Amino acid sequence: MKLTPAALVTLVAVTLAGAIQKKERARDPWAEARERMVREQIEERGVRNPDVLRVMRQTPRHLFIPERLRSQAYEDHPVPIGYGQTISQPYIVALMTELLEPHKDAKVLEIGTGSGYQAAVLAPLVRHVYTIEIVRELAESAAALLKRLGYDNVTVRWGDGYQGWPEEAPFDRIIVTAAPPEVPKALLDQLKPGGKLVAPVGSSIFGQDLIVIDKTRDGKIRRRSVLPVVFVPMVKGKQP
Ligand code: SAH
Repeated sequence: MKLTPAALVTLVAVTLAGAIQKKERARDPWAEARERMVREQIEERGVRNPDVLRVMRQTPRHLFIPERLRSQAYEDHPVPIGYGQTISQPYIVALMTELLEPHKDAKVLEIGTGSGYQAAVLAPLVRHVYTIEIVRELAESAAALLKRLGYDNVTVRWGDGYQGWPEEAPFDRIIVTAAPPEVPKALLDQLKPGGKLVAPVGSSIFGQDLIVIDKTRDGKIRRRSVLPVVFVPMVKGKQP
């Protein structure tokens, strides 16, 4: 068989790409599971934003999960992270990130740091992530992990998300990853006109609605429901 120069170039390129992928997998034993997670759980369900897909491919989710449960890191469900809390299902993290429409200049507020994974997914896509967690131990461990992994545009605060973060307000984007019965007023007030808020909202034990709120340039609130979801409740009255 004779190969044309073009076919030869393609053959070399394909072989090289295969070799590079293999090397990647050898370096990171989780790479294959993560790639499968992105393809089967996220792309196949319709998440299309290339930036979101790229960070989901890059972020080492297993490091945000307690060691004894690490084998479940790339499975299609939430995983316990201690203190009765969970790291959300990968698809929900990707979907909420896509719905938030992150951009390079955005100042983002997250309520419910938990493991720090959602903050790590957002960090490469925005200017800065401010994230609040009410369980002190989780706030401290997430802050330490994010620092160790080199996320230098994430600030973690131990506090109550119902108050938002007035000193840093207003925010271009707000993402809530614990479920309040209604969107807290402080958060709506701290959202910039033209900004966007994504949150699971509702108090039913069976779950909540994932909603997207747009604050128009003239300050009006537009709200739409996207999907039924199940999140841990956003707790009240335990202000640190
Ligand atoms: N985003 C997280 C998952 C969040 S689980 C991750 O990527 O891992 C929801 C988190 O919200 C829990 O850690 C819980 O402790 C926290 N939380 C609940 N009520 C809160 C409140 N009022 N203020 C701040 N955090 C709260």
